[in-house]
Amino acid sequence: MRSQSLVLMYHQIAETKDDPNDLAVSPKNFAAQMSVLKDRCEVVPLSEIQSRSESRSKRPRVAITFDDGYADNGEVGAPILEAAGLPASFFITGIAIDGRGEFWWDSLEHLLLDLSDQNAPQDPFEVSIGGQHLRVDLRTRDARLNAHKSLRRPLRLRPPEEIAPVIDALAAHVGSEAPACERHRLAGLSGVQALSRIPGVTIGSHTIRHVSLPTLTQEVRRHELAESRRLLEEVIDQPVLEFAFPFGGEGAFDDASEVAVRDAGYVLACRSIFGTVNHRTDPFRIPRAQVYDTREHDFSAQLDGWFRGRHS
Ligand SMILES: [Zn+2]
Repeated sequence: MRSQSLVLMYHQIAETKDDPNDLAVSPKNFAAQMSVLKDRCEVVPLSEIQSRSESRSKRPRVAITFDDGYADNGEVGAPILEAAGLPASFFITGIAIDGRGEFWWDSLEHLLLDLSDQNAPQDPFEVSIGGQHLRVDLRTRDARLNAHKSLRRPLRLRPPEEIAPVIDALAAHVGSEAPACERHRLAGLSGVQALSRIPGVTIGSHTIRHVSLPTLTQEVRRHELAESRRLLEEVIDQPVLEFAFPFGGEGAFDDASEVAVRDAGYVLACRSIFGTVNHRTDPFRIPRAQVYDTREHDFSAQLDGWFRGRHS
């Protein structure tokens, strides 16, 4: 008996030594996860996750999504999906189409975690974020990992004009600039176009600047939603109807943002909050399960829990 469906959320398919943002799944594990899905589930395009099935399949239904627009999505992830014959939606930011530089959370990772105990500042880094004063120790690796967490969490829900100065102040404090590295490379214009031409791929929007919508004025919010859609449609020459809320957790959406998403012409919107999907789910509040870098067996066990509505 099919009860609940599930939308999976990925960000990067890459080998990593360190991944404090928990965004990457290795190509090997991703391929193994796809074969588990093929064996156990009916994998459908996101746009069909709520439609009543024509098929007699009793297998649970799953849709696959990717956020942000990293280069590896098209170069590594999509070919694995294509080989397995599985569809997926990719939510692309305007920053990723531009393709230059890195997302601020990747810069934050470099500034803190590229440091060694020898070259780390002995003085704590002090900063005010949204009226909250923070003072973080940078002397040991554990301290820097904690600092990464304590800075990243409040920054996610601040407007871009407040985030950039914090990153700049941290760069000045540690005495280095964040580099642009291969692992965090963004798709760029040709990367997004190539991705969009892979069979089974649907392109959706994730705003221009990967901003938390409730932090914006109505006018800026409208621009982020309408302009990112227009830009993507121009780039891929196909309609763009799907949206995912940047950050997508509590605080990253509200009633006004949901209305703005509908008004901008999208037909569905994903959150990053865990939950299963059924035909009663509001299509502008689709919950998702974030997939981590797990092997076949663990992923399969996790799926069992997720289908029962358990988040672990
Ligand atoms: Zn980087």
